Amino acid sequence: MKKQIFTFAGGFIASLVLLFSIAAVLPENDSSPVKANIDRDRYYPGTEDLKPDEIRVTALGTGQPSVRPKQAAACFLVELGNGDKFIFDIGSGAHERIAAQKIPYDYIDKVFISHLHVDHFGDLASFWLGGTVMNRLTPLRIWGPSGATPELGTKYCLDKMQEMYIWDVKTRSGFVDFRGGVLEVTEFPYDQVNEIVYNENDVIIRSIPAIHAIDGSVSFILEWNGMKVVYGGDTFPNKWYLKYVAGADFAIHECFLPANLLVEKQGFTTSEALIVGTQAHTSPEQFGKVMSQVKPRIAVGYHFYNDFDTEPEVRERVRKTYDGPLSLAQDYMVWNITKDDIKVRMGVKDEEVWPSAAIRDKVAPKGSDEPPFSTFINSGRKPYLEIVQPIWDEVNEKYNTDVKLNK
Ligand SMILES: [Zn+2]
Ligand SMILES: [Zn+2]
Repeated sequence: MKKQIFTFAGGFIASLVLLFSIAAVLPENDSSPVKANIDRDRYYPGTEDLKPDEIRVTALGTGQPSVRPKQAAACFLVELGNGDKFIFDIGSGAHERIAAQKIPYDYIDKVFISHLHVDHFGDLASFWLGGTVMNRLTPLRIWGPSGATPELGTKYCLDKMQEMYIWDVKTRSGFVDFRGGVLEVTEFPYDQVNEIVYNENDVIIRSIPAIHAIDGSVSFILEWNGMKVVYGGDTFPNKWYLKYVAGADFAIHECFLPANLLVEKQGFTTSEALIVGTQAHTSPEQFGKVMSQVKPRIAVGYHFYNDFDTEPEVRERVRKTYDGPLSLAQDYMVWNITKDDIKVRMGVKDEEVWPSAAIRDKVAPKGSDEPPFSTFINSGRKPYLEIVQPIWDEVNEKYNTDVKLNK
């Protein structure tokens, strides 16, 4: 019995000595089981201030037209230390990933579209109208290229989109503060070379032509605080990208699946795979060649299904022609960029995110005294006043308002 106590005491003392030794070795403020990590290797949206000279880029869609849970279609968010935020492309499935960044809709009202393939602007309507209901109180501003003819341009496309959604617009205006329901579309010539399409608040965005499918695809070059961030739209390798992106701090360019994987995993014929994989798009080897000439501080490839069994081959093929800094983007990958450093992490998504409250004061819509229904539909209403009136009374009392129910 005595021996056991002795052993226990000895063990206890040894543990204390060990703990003190560890404490002496650890630097002050380092992590411990009961303190938060200081140097996070994950990005938690909504929890980090950007430094005034810092840029944060978040990949919110890196996949293909056929979206999947792991990858939405093309979308990158660029946030600047001056508070400005820009979306480059808003492909199918991107809206929910934008929402996961926990940014009020009023602060993400600038969208730049590289071309009018659905995998590059397929979630625009959802973001526009969904955002309008969810507290965007300013117009949504959109920039996009012209086409070879007027009906192939961004303006025509988005005019038609607004017409198409007339039922949606009509049902919301008058019921919610609808000031954000307006689209402001700026179309610029697709064939302009390094001309300015946006110049506000010391941020300049230029466009250069891209070569993809038919005329009307572009890439964007954002300049701010002495740094250059480039978003490449779909393209065959082109001379404008080589010339105007040279030396960029952050260069995104498409990097398509190798032709053999298009055949084996996606069921393409060899001719489809070779044409799509190396002529309509840029193969990993072509991507590497482009980046070896552009020499950015970091090259970012996207637009392929990035999985455990595809990424190694894509990387190996890129490495045949490029040996510089490289990210093969996945959805929620985040880069913090300053003049001295580029840090890459994966972001964490909150599945239960809610839209942030409106920044501006909301204006209660006037609504209508008459139900917006035909006599026929109206005749089918079951008002249940004995249930509904108490709800109105309860809410009015709680928030000290006097909203009247039309009976
Ligand atoms: Zn495309
Ligand atoms: Zn695409």
